[in-house]
Amino acid sequence: MKSYRKELTFNTNTRRAFLNITPQVDKALAESGIVEGFCLVNAMNITASVFINDHESGLHSDFERWLEKLAPEKPHSQYDHNGYEDNADAHLKRSVMGREVVVAVTNGKLDFGTWEQIFYGEFDGMRDKRVLVKIIGE
Ligand code: ZN
Repeated sequence: MKSYRKELTFNTNTRRAFLNITPQVDKALAESGIVEGFCLVNAMNITASVFINDHESGLHSDFERWLEKLAPEKPHSQYDHNGYEDNADAHLKRSVMGREVVVAVTNGKLDFGTWEQIFYGEFDGMRDKRVLVKIIGE
């Protein structure tokens, strides 16, 4: 069995952002040389997510509004976590959107369902954040 590990780094210029990271994951898969197996992609920070959904800007606006209803950023004082920090909402949003995805690797390609793409969800950005790509197989 082969194993391949790569870290990706993202630094968004806004507090919240959704980035399509499918091209970077595709590149990691090509580098791995693995053609049958599994590809794990996870956020390495507890205020960011990795999730799979549609690459459609309206949907991303809908996610932003929905998450702000569930866990509004402000006022910062509404959260017990916000003492020295102001990112309680980002921890909650991350929990809703998830930590990781696993995609099957078939014939050297990410074996997606219709319209599926991999996204990085940033909820407390403007600093370096890491994402782990781990691929196992043969
Ligand atoms: Zn925090």
